[in-house]
Amino acid sequence: KSNLKMREVALIYLDRSGGLQKFVDDCKLYNDSKQSYAVYRFLISINPSDIAELDAALGNHILHEPVKATQIFQSVCYIAVKTLSLIEQLQTEAQINIVLKLTHLPSLPSYVLSLCEFPFDYTSQRFYMSEGIVIAVTTVTKYTQGARFLCSEETCPFSEGFQYIRIHTPGATESATVRNDFVCHLCASPLREDMKFRALGEKQLVEMIDAKALGAFQGFCNSKPHFRVQSFTVFLRDELANKMKMGNRYKVIGIPACIQNCSQATVCIEANRVQLCSTKCPSCISDNFKHLLSLTSSSCWRFTAILANIFASQVVPPGTYNTLKLFILLSLVQTSDRDEETAEYLDLLIVTSDSLIINRYTSSVFFF
Ligand SMILES: [Zn+2]
Repeated sequence: KSNLKMREVALIYLDRSGGLQKFVDDCKLYNDSKQSYAVYRFLISINPSDIAELDAALGNHILHEPVKATQIFQSVCYIAVKTLSLIEQLQTEAQINIVLKLTHLPSLPSYVLSLCEFPFDYTSQRFYMSEGIVIAVTTVTKYTQGARFLCSEETCPFSEGFQYIRIHTPGATESATVRNDFVCHLCASPLREDMKFRALGEKQLVEMIDAKALGAFQGFCNSKPHFRVQSFTVFLRDELANKMKMGNRYKVIGIPACIQNCSQATVCIEANRVQLCSTKCPSCISDNFKHLLSLTSSSCWRFTAILANIFASQVVPPGTYNTLKLFILLSLVQTSDRDEETAEYLDLLIVTSDSLIINRYTSSVFFF
């Protein structure tokens, strides 16, 4: 019964916010295309304060149980499609993929995910806001947004139709959407994917780090003499791809997730909204730092080496500090004004379990 009430409120919200009109327009585009899809994707803009004012329970649901809240909007939208005959081709509720796009989060400490504080609370699949600087971006690749599965037993009614539709949910890996061990609820036969209906979306990974890391580079003192800053991955999907640029500072609203990769667990955030921040921290370089640069200007390596010694352990990702030091050391040895022929070579004994990294580093030193 509370679900019914929330659906009612969701409909009222959609109507008042103009979201219903946008949904009807989006449906028209699908209907006019006459093409049959496994999944029909809709973005719905959500202002959490407006919803909470309308109905506290639904507002709370959206902020703290976004997956369940999405299902409520999915039902409402399906009923709208059916009663108003918006998309002829659409057959089941499972085919509706709703993405709730939050305008903001309440500005309360419990919604802030601090990148400096461990452990992350990634077990509760709800919205958090975090802020940081982009230090790496990948190219845009494809991911499975949705897929259609059919029962492999020909006599089963679910061997056709759109009963088994799998849709990517925030924080889920590819294997959660597409796998070969799903079974039919009706006859327990294995399901097989209907490949021609696979819906692909765009995905980009962005590495972010807390702005405090930049402070360390600029030479501003931190109250704690030693602090560690861990970078983390942000997943940008579909309309968010290419929305973040290297070096810029952003506020990201998203759902934290833990991705198990062999023996390693990586905490990442699936972005829902990305907002460029105006930098409040000083963009200048401190006088101490400029002084250090002038003192070390006699050598092209001294400045970098000092930086690595003083700051690198605090700002580089764990496990790479020794590699960085070795890299600088080798570069120092190889950097000399002497002729190529008379250059003395350095014998190195390296003990490692990963020869690939050493191969890469020694070869890059020689080409430096
Ligand atoms: Zn079946």
